[in-house]
Amino acid sequence: MYNALVRRDRRFEGVFFIGVKTTGIFCRPTCSARKPKRENVEFFPTAAAALSAGYRACLRCQPLSQPLEPPPWLAALRDTVDRDPARRLRDADLRARKLEPATTRRLFKKHYGMTFHAYARARRIGAALSTIRSRNTPMLQLQRAAGYESESAFRQACEKLLGDTAPAIRDASILHARWINTPLGPMIALADEAGLRLLEFIDRRALERQLRRIRSSLRAAIVPGDHPHLHDAASWLASYFAGRHPAAAPRLAPRGSEFQQHAWNALLQIPLGQTRSYAQQAAAIGRPTATRAVARANGDNAIAIIIPCHRVIGADGSPTGYGGGVWRKIWLLEHEQKMAGALLHR
Ligand SMILES: [Zn+2]
Repeated sequence: MYNALVRRDRRFEGVFFIGVKTTGIFCRPTCSARKPKRENVEFFPTAAAALSAGYRACLRCQPLSQPLEPPPWLAALRDTVDRDPARRLRDADLRARKLEPATTRRLFKKHYGMTFHAYARARRIGAALSTIRSRNTPMLQLQRAAGYESESAFRQACEKLLGDTAPAIRDASILHARWINTPLGPMIALADEAGLRLLEFIDRRALERQLRRIRSSLRAAIVPGDHPHLHDAASWLASYFAGRHPAAAPRLAPRGSEFQQHAWNALLQIPLGQTRSYAQQAAAIGRPTATRAVARANGDNAIAIIIPCHRVIGADGSPTGYGGGVWRKIWLLEHEQKMAGALLHR
């Protein structure tokens, strides 16, 4: 991909996007701007993934624009979200700007390749998670990379999503947060002394809700920084994606009801390279009629990959839904089949 980038290879247009760490801007592979050094580049499968990772669209190659120019009012609407991603624009706000909500949403999707809400959500998450990925970067630089005009607005956006990130936290417990890059896109991991609390792809639709839930149930503030459990999770993922059988899993401490804990434990019992149906998983916890509840519990699993909810598939063998996207589920299952095969033949 880096070679394609340096050659400005048109065949890779739309195949991947690049984020330039030093500027906080993302581009098409064919962008006419001077090409960044390899170590300053990261790759994304979609523009939405680059946005969720905290990057802003390049003004030169306009990676969000389709070949046809968006009307100025639509571009202006996107600018509004860029300037203040924490603010949720509702139908009433659109009408106040003399925009008809349904038409606006349809045209936004047509021009930018994702829904208006997906765009706003990606910008909010991206802006707040910038604090986690680069804790050594000065606040002002983060704020500019996230596109905020004032530091207070940026802090507010972070606090809304991550809790009080001010250094003087007394009494409140602390959830340590770390950014982990994987071949399937960046993930965020949260842990405290009890163990790993969350591991999710940053572009997952439910991430905002999960972060809020975990923060309030533990009454904790989320603070960027490493922790032994996060370190374990990162090395587990590195072995897993390299196709090696990960030695020890990090200590897991997912938050959930008793039923959910049973459902998740059943997931941990499914061997690598195998799959189960929801009915089989329900039977495994002694609740054979609870297939819907089991499916819901799997959807609420906040520790992706390590608690392998992707190993549960439809009774007809179809991959069914997956919080991180069905394409990731298929990729994980194929990867595990190869891994299991390689382990058998060793
Ligand atoms: Zn560019």
